[in-house]
Amino acid sequence: MTVRTRYAPSPTGFMHVGNLRTALYEYLIAKNAKGTFVLRIEDTDRERLVEGAVDVIYNTMKTAGLIHDEGPDVGGEYGPYVQSQRKDMYLPYAEQLIKEGKAYRCFCTKERLEALSQESVGGGYDGHCRDLPPEEIDRLLKEGVPYVIRQKMPTEGSTTFVDAVFGEITVENSELTDQILIKSDGFPTYNFANVIDDHTMGITHVVRGCEYLSSTPKYNLLYEAFGWEIPTYVHLPLIMGKNEDGSVSKLSKRHGATGFEDLVAEGYLPQAIINYIALLGWCPKTNQEIFTLQELCENFHVEEISKSPSVFDYDKLSWMNAEYLRAMSEAEFTAVCKPYYDKVFGDKPYDAEKLFAILHERTVKLTDIPGMIDFLAELPEYDREMFVNKKSKTTLENVPGILEAVIGELEKIENFNCDTIKESLLGLAAKLGLKNGTVMWPARIAAAGKTVTPGGAVEILDILGKEESLRRLNAGLEKLN
Ligand code: GLU
Repeated sequence: MTVRTRYAPSPTGFMHVGNLRTALYEYLIAKNAKGTFVLRIEDTDRERLVEGAVDVIYNTMKTAGLIHDEGPDVGGEYGPYVQSQRKDMYLPYAEQLIKEGKAYRCFCTKERLEALSQESVGGGYDGHCRDLPPEEIDRLLKEGVPYVIRQKMPTEGSTTFVDAVFGEITVENSELTDQILIKSDGFPTYNFANVIDDHTMGITHVVRGCEYLSSTPKYNLLYEAFGWEIPTYVHLPLIMGKNEDGSVSKLSKRHGATGFEDLVAEGYLPQAIINYIALLGWCPKTNQEIFTLQELCENFHVEEISKSPSVFDYDKLSWMNAEYLRAMSEAEFTAVCKPYYDKVFGDKPYDAEKLFAILHERTVKLTDIPGMIDFLAELPEYDREMFVNKKSKTTLENVPGILEAVIGELEKIENFNCDTIKESLLGLAAKLGLKNGTVMWPARIAAAGKTVTPGGAVEILDILGKEESLRRLNAGLEKLN
């Protein structure tokens, strides 16, 4: 049997990392088995829809590389793939169950149901219309009394199913209310549409958050009523966030960015996010942590999903992001950094090769870049005290003379580059009998106006070029005099 998985988001907002993990695991299960990955938009709950949310889903999946084989935009033989476009196909299934005595029309008024929910514990339905005489039903139908269609749930015994992650789960049938399949407006309830869709789309594996675990028996009773094969259920553990006091609670915005687009905006690479999210709940057989999407497809198995909650660790994601950046070629690195370079340099030219040299090994998040290199575009205001450094043995007394000598040396250089700058500054230190740092420190402070910079004095002077370097060193000298 071909494996068919589906990602079935309700377009109710941004794409939380939990949803992205569901989509990813559906994708991996399908691809690992050379199966088919389907995207289905579940827009049956009209009140919960958020405008633009479908586009967020498309964009996220595309950026993340989770390409679906069937879906609203690419089509497929099981379409349409948007629930609102399938709305006419649900009622006949419910009517079939009525005919078979497995469902019934419920004419109870809103008032009656409200009164019921107040008096009965758990708010269950009391089965009032379960066995209405046929004449009574005909009369009510003729009178045009609105009704819903409910499934006749068993009142005794229990329902058991096996989840691929959580194992055997049993629910007492007495706890299950006669669930509504079709609402009084003729439209299906969310649960009913979900089951009909999964069956008619030939879905073999249902992957979703563990918040659905408790409603799964209800889904199964529907499969049983129709005599359909129940899909493999893969419920995923919760994703937690670390609180300041060391405890954990369900991941939410107060822990940090929780949406895919927000994480990208915070400077994380889509491929690093995907790799990190794959490990939230999945324990690979080996110690390998860095996986391309292709490697994930090859290595991922449902049996390796853990049922204990996983904790979203932003530090670990940052580490992984840095690993991905370091593994990039200069061209790849420059391409992802470009929007951040543009922020710093605007339309002024910059030398991407030289920026690569100072940033490639040092960048953790792309958003750190402007703060690391802004001084290259413009010398910041800085305090003369910065020239004083104990370790480099620089003082406000010795720095002016050193800077003056540095300026003299740099002026002499004809072919201004890292090699010639280094040679000249080290030569100067030797000539003056000073530690290299005693020359380098003031040169770097005057060139950058900062104590922490990616790269040392030589690289920075080289990037600035001879003219700008001399201008900044002279300005530093002036500051001291
Ligand atoms: N539409 C549901 C959601 O977005 C998915 C339910 C399911 O996968 O069965 O949470």
